[in-house]
Amino acid sequence: MDTLDIKTIREDFPILKREVNGKPLVYLDNGATTQKPKAVIDAIINYYTDMNSNVHRGVHYLSQISTDAFEITRRKVQEFINAKHDYEIIITKGTTDSINLVASCYGQEFISNGDEIIISAMEHHSNIVPWQMICEAKGAILKVIPMTEHGELDMETYKSFLNPKTKIVAVNYVSNALGTINPVKEIIDLAHAQNIPVLIDAAQAVQHIKIDVQALDVDFLVFSGHKMYGPTGVGVLYGKEYWLNKMPPYQGGGDMIKDVTFEKTTYNELPFKFEAGTPNIEAGIALNAAIDYINRLGLDNIKKYEDDLLQYATEKLQEIKGLRIIGTAKEKSSVISFVVEGTHPYDIGVLLDKMGIAVRTGHHCAQPVMEQFHIPGTVRASLAVYNTKEEIDALVAGVNRAVAMLV
Ligand code: PMP
Repeated sequence: MDTLDIKTIREDFPILKREVNGKPLVYLDNGATTQKPKAVIDAIINYYTDMNSNVHRGVHYLSQISTDAFEITRRKVQEFINAKHDYEIIITKGTTDSINLVASCYGQEFISNGDEIIISAMEHHSNIVPWQMICEAKGAILKVIPMTEHGELDMETYKSFLNPKTKIVAVNYVSNALGTINPVKEIIDLAHAQNIPVLIDAAQAVQHIKIDVQALDVDFLVFSGHKMYGPTGVGVLYGKEYWLNKMPPYQGGGDMIKDVTFEKTTYNELPFKFEAGTPNIEAGIALNAAIDYINRLGLDNIKKYEDDLLQYATEKLQEIKGLRIIGTAKEKSSVISFVVEGTHPYDIGVLLDKMGIAVRTGHHCAQPVMEQFHIPGTVRASLAVYNTKEEIDALVAGVNRAVAMLV
């Protein structure tokens, strides 16, 4: 597929046909979660209708087919991000779960009193708090790469932070609050020059930008199924075999063990060492359908289409008097955050909702970002491949109406 037929794509998403408050739904909250194509919904229904059974345990037929389907997803994810081995793909509950796993297990093994962990000023809370927790537990220090008023990382300060005490760098690929695409390859290379591993939070990247973990040479990469047209409750931790083997398990329980006696337990090999208990099987299986869907459209096509839409939306929104875009980095992806003089983001969000337009308002789980810009929050429109210029026009008209009521 070379160019995307958005009308046909929209047909794939049943929810886009519905109305909200008597108006056609304009769904612009894709950064929070995307809608699901029928193929993903069908995969979930099919799992329960045809193969429901626990995975990795039974010798019986249903357990075998559900295990096979679950493991196909692991290999699909491997291909999707070009990991070297399928056992480097750990199936988790989502981005938050994946980051907590690394912070806890890597932290337990490699972080000691006085060590340093680097994050950035534009992280989601889920890439701040787990690191703060391990800092507190171990007496380590959190260093925060500052950003400019455009929402770009200050790379000179980053370079100055790297030193033998730095034990890990954890930054997002794309900021959920600002849309900034960070120079992750450069961030990784600079850290590797000092043998420091890097975790990339790709929660807002993997559905928009083609990622090759081997080309990036990234040590850990995390993302969520539900932001990439897949189900909730499933996500991915990619980790290099080298690190995963060196890290202790996360949670104890079934599946993650080889042998258990009351005296001693030996742990299972990768990836199961990090997958204790029954996973979210239907979501794991349906993630395969989500990746197939993205692959069918092609990430390059998706990016090109969304970039055009982002530019269109940026130009049109900027025409609104008193509107200020928060996050004006040169490299951006699919997110426009804004404030309008004399209004509160929440009020605009509520009025837009009355018009059937779904946006996110607030701090977007990135309170430090809001603090830096001295604002309580923003209105955030975040795009997916099924959004259209007509929907952007509806947003612009809606904001104009809301502002006229509020100011
Ligand atoms: N990181 C980023 C950049 C995000 O945008 C989000 C979700 N808003 C998360 C982490 C957390 O993802 P989840 O809630 O799916 O665990």
